[in-house]
Amino acid sequence: MSETKGERRYFRTTQQVKDWKTLARAADEVGDNLPCRQAPDLYYAAMNETQHIRYAKKACQPCPIREICLQYAIKHNEGEGVWGGMTVSERKNVRRQLKAEGKL
Ligand code: SF4
Repeated sequence: MSETKGERRYFRTTQQVKDWKTLARAADEVGDNLPCRQAPDLYYAAMNETQHIRYAKKACQPCPIREICLQYAIKHNEGEGVWGGMTVSERKNVRRQLKAEGKL
């Protein structure tokens, strides 16, 4: 996977690049069957589009890489979209709790 100019701006740390590559490899192993690859717009729906968000959250549950996806989004404070079955605000709550416990 090559890094584009846009990706360099998106990634803040070398660790984030490594974690992204790990996630991307796992996603590529699953391929086009990933729910978020079948309906990507639903995963970045506006917060008032509750039906889309609900659909995306539900579709994530059986995803074979949900755990690694969620860990990436929480660890790197992904600021948009549904990742690993959680919205931005849900992930922020988890981050807050992990920080309070000294785990992040
Ligand atoms: S868990 Fe992550 S990779 Fe799987 S469908 Fe949801 S957003 Fe996509």
